[in-house]
Amino acid sequence: MPLAPSGKHATLPVIPPSGELRLLNEIIQKINSGMSLDEVFNLIYDRLREFVPYHRIAVALVDPKREILSITAAKSDGKMVLTRGYTGVIAGSSLEPLVREGRTRIINDLQEYLARKPSSDSTRLIVKEGMRSSLTLPLLVEGQPIGVMFFSSRLPDAYRPAHEEFLRGIVGHVAMAIERSRLMDALREKSDYLENILNNSTDAIVVVDMENRIRTWNEGARRIFGYDESEVLGKHVGMLVAEEGQSEEEMNRIRDQVERDGFLKDYECVRRTKDGRKIISSITSTLLRDKQGRAIGRSSIVRDVTRLRKLQEDLVKSQSLAAVGELAATVAHEIKNPLAGISGAIQVLEDAIPRSDPRRSVVGEILEQIRRLDNTVRDLLAFSRPTAPVRQEIDVGETLARAWSLLAPQPGASEVRFAIAGGEGMRLLADAHLLEQVWINLFQNAIEAMPRGGELRVLVHDGESIRIEVRDTGSGIDAAHVGKLFRPFFSTKTRGTGLGLAISRKIVEAHGGSIWFATRPGIGTSVFVELPQ
Ligand code: ADP
Ligand code: MG
Repeated sequence: MPLAPSGKHATLPVIPPSGELRLLNEIIQKINSGMSLDEVFNLIYDRLREFVPYHRIAVALVDPKREILSITAAKSDGKMVLTRGYTGVIAGSSLEPLVREGRTRIINDLQEYLARKPSSDSTRLIVKEGMRSSLTLPLLVEGQPIGVMFFSSRLPDAYRPAHEEFLRGIVGHVAMAIERSRLMDALREKSDYLENILNNSTDAIVVVDMENRIRTWNEGARRIFGYDESEVLGKHVGMLVAEEGQSEEEMNRIRDQVERDGFLKDYECVRRTKDGRKIISSITSTLLRDKQGRAIGRSSIVRDVTRLRKLQEDLVKSQSLAAVGELAATVAHEIKNPLAGISGAIQVLEDAIPRSDPRRSVVGEILEQIRRLDNTVRDLLAFSRPTAPVRQEIDVGETLARAWSLLAPQPGASEVRFAIAGGEGMRLLADAHLLEQVWINLFQNAIEAMPRGGELRVLVHDGESIRIEVRDTGSGIDAAHVGKLFRPFFSTKTRGTGLGLAISRKIVEAHGGSIWFATRPGIGTSVFVELPQ
């Protein structure tokens, strides 16, 4: 029969051990079944009354720095002042020995205690609530106090060491439940954090199994490759490989290497996105194992380095171009003047040789070669000089017509039919002289690509920007050469300088435009120039 103590020296309640044990078991089971802390607290508040007297229970926890104690749960049969959210500094407080050393405290006359310790705010508040005695136990986890649990009664002299004995077991389990729930919170936070990383990563994070099937696909992967999770889960990761027919083999090779070494670092390869774009990706993979240590797959971080590689390439190119340009300018200057001198001297010689003299044709050939050299030097200088366009309002059609009129007289052009479509009266802010150089270079290449004649058509499209297509019906360009066309000195011609397109691109880019090729060997070539309006 449970008894509340009455009077100053109440007899201890007689607790049938079996009932006590049953309750203890029940509470422990509920705690261990993953009950929330609030539920555990309510259960204790509802059920312990049978064995311990109280009108109020509260739990206060120590902060991670062990400086502050805050009430996290409190329940009573009346109005509460000292309740959830109340915090107090531990140092110097009457609770300090409990929190520091894990001691238990029984105060069987709170009013008398307050008279002795008037500075204890919490005692004053609890007395105000009508409590007269209290039993406070530390919440111990592995011997370390993580907080305290208060039992308070409206009756004075309510607590005995036997109550303390009885509660210690339960309170120990409460402490463990609290600790577990804190760990769970920390774990949840951590997995939220991991999930955050997984989803906010700009890199693709992809997990594949040993059959190379995709098992995890994050937001970064969707952004880089364009596929939604539902489109790829369970599919062979080879679907991302750029070259068809190689996927199976490459993926197996990667898998085997990761299995052998445990990882694969910064592996660079070409991958294909959903919309067919090729991207350069850098892959770092780690082997995943199960508890028995068997390889079960790999987790890969895939970074899109296309832009980075392009920038690096451009940098290298611009650096070597600048060096080449500097050298070219120096050499060209060195050659230009003597060349003019030689040319002048030979002309004097030529004049001195009678027209009937066969040596005169030799001199003519020398002069012809000098003209070629002079052209090369001019190209070199044009290429190496910084191209700063002097922009004026110009008529695009006019610059095209003038460029053609300069080339038309040469023998190779006689079999080429030339036509301009569109662009009449189209005006543009640009450097007419520089643009003419571009057209001359493109027309010249077209003429040279059609040694037996053909058609050279210029199509001008007006849009957000002006697009000029220079289309010939010539030889076309070998696939192996397409990537090198704009490189200075790249030429497939015995007498080419290989500077025409390099200069043209420089000029077009100085106008904020771009230039590119479309070609079909044996059918012809189109060069596109796009200039912003
Ligand atoms: P060059 O004309 O002195 O060779 P360019 O820079 O003008 O130098 O051109 C580089 C190369 O690009 C040429 O040698 C040629 O192989 C190729 N090419 C350029 N335009 C055409 C074209 N319209 N048709 C075929 N090949 C072309
Ligand atoms: Mg050329």
